[in-house]
Amino acid sequence: MIECKNLVKIYKVDNELEVMALQGLDLTVEKGELMGIIGSSGSGKSTLLNMLGGLDRPSAGNLIVDGQSLLNMSDKELVQYKLQTVGFIWQNNARNLIPYLTARQNVELPMLLNGKRKKARAIELLEMVGLGHRLNNRLSELSGGEQQRVAIAIALANQPKLLLADEPTGNVDTKTADIILDLFRYLNNELGVTIVIVTHDMKLTKKMDRVVAIRDGKTSSEILRRKFFDEQGRELLMDEDGEPED
Ligand code: ADP
Ligand code: MG
Repeated sequence: MIECKNLVKIYKVDNELEVMALQGLDLTVEKGELMGIIGSSGSGKSTLLNMLGGLDRPSAGNLIVDGQSLLNMSDKELVQYKLQTVGFIWQNNARNLIPYLTARQNVELPMLLNGKRKKARAIELLEMVGLGHRLNNRLSELSGGEQQRVAIAIALANQPKLLLADEPTGNVDTKTADIILDLFRYLNNELGVTIVIVTHDMKLTKKMDRVVAIRDGKTSSEILRRKFFDEQGRELLMDEDGEPED
């Protein structure tokens, strides 16, 4: 799903100062993975996610998502990519949620932008994230955790193959964080959506298939954990070499 080679991102702060946020980063994500990216503040996690989501362009390197090379895309193609291939969730979704519209209207918006309006699908998505009883409430009437679930429904509106989440539980309590993580797990298992979650909360990584760390704009080679599942979706134990036990 993602093939990222020697990715470099340089921010020009002013004429003299440059920040090299990604310093030749390599990352491969398989279709169907639920993977985590951890790393301390300023290590380049958001920069990487923004590149993957087409919100900003890399300075150099290779970045292919779902067979599409993001470096060579025109602005127009990038808009299509953002609408159709990826869904994005932030810690604070204020820029994606409209407080005076209802939950259902908020979920319909990205479908409208994509030339489709499917009221039934908006309702279905809100039911899936456990908000079937909140369809006609304005966003401003919902709790932080509920708003975060609306944000997930919005991100799923156009059936993206890849879901990107930047510290999605940073603003909610631990119980809500668990509910949100379970929801990601469900979307991954049941709908087959590939999911990449950035977090600095190690507790959350327990439910992920694989976790890599970023340090100073590079992925560290160590894989922190990898989970294996059998065909029925049951978790298998890892042996000492990090391979599934026989
Ligand atoms: P993280 O999400 O891991 O905390 P970021 O990707 O936000 O890290 O930032 C990585 C580095 O890039 C930091 O040094 C940060 O200050 C810098 N940076 C991020 N965004 C910008 C920007 N728009 N302009 C200039 N520097 C930036
Ligand atoms: Mg960040």
